[in-house]
Amino acid sequence: MNKFACAQTGYDSAEYVILGVPFDKTSSFRPGAADGPEEVRRASYCFEPYMMEYDISLSDMYIHDKGNLSEHDDVEDMGDELRSVVTDIMEKNKFPIVIGGEHSLSPYAVSAFEDVHVIILDAHLDYRDTYEGLKRSHATPTRRISELPIRGLNVLGVRSLSQDVSMIERPPYLTSQDILKNPDVIDEICEKINGERVYLSIDMDVFDPSYAPGVGNPEPYGLEPIVCKRIIGKLSDHLVGVDIVETCPHFDHGGITSNLAARLIYDVIGSKAAAD
Ligand code: MN
Ligand code: MN
Repeated sequence: MNKFACAQTGYDSAEYVILGVPFDKTSSFRPGAADGPEEVRRASYCFEPYMMEYDISLSDMYIHDKGNLSEHDDVEDMGDELRSVVTDIMEKNKFPIVIGGEHSLSPYAVSAFEDVHVIILDAHLDYRDTYEGLKRSHATPTRRISELPIRGLNVLGVRSLSQDVSMIERPPYLTSQDILKNPDVIDEICEKINGERVYLSIDMDVFDPSYAPGVGNPEPYGLEPIVCKRIIGKLSDHLVGVDIVETCPHFDHGGITSNLAARLIYDVIGSKAAAD
């Protein structure tokens, strides 16, 4: 298996730890996200290590690629292993970057942290209590995260939600149109959570399918990648962990989705390093 580009540091001395989660067992529409980590690593070699916008080279960063989590059939088994691996990364003051895999992994990764504010970028609110009989599913991560002892939660880029979720119980969210009409709403949210530690979960379907066709549930009218780059830049100072999920290579075209996912990881590391 390829390592992520520039991941040449041992675990003990690393500041950033890349971890793949090849899990897509609850996918409903089109599975394949289990192959996401491999493809995102492959795509990571596309780019120049030097990022001009941050004046930082990825090759100067202390990055370790921990490889993939074991393959599991059961979502709870996957989650137990993920929580313990992310807890170890967090306790050693390293920064976890989790590559999915489907979105069901995020609540387990978040549960390794205490007192974090969670920002989720997603076309879908993912707020059902159960989906196809499962509490832990790619369709329920926002709900499961909201049940954790977190400081707060915002979902950005939403343009699809289940009718079962009433207005009153919905978590705070902005639609993709809210953001496209007024990009400053992002600044308002970032200002509100200023000072808090932030965990960021990026479901690749938050992007317009023209930018990210290789996802399980593509949804038109999505965000442009540059908007997400801006959000990462705004939050970078406060980020404690990130996951980038739902890249589904079988439905990708020319590697455009895995390419974007890999570049987002560059941006997370570059903007964090520049903020230090
Ligand atoms: Mn999702
Ligand atoms: Mn989604």
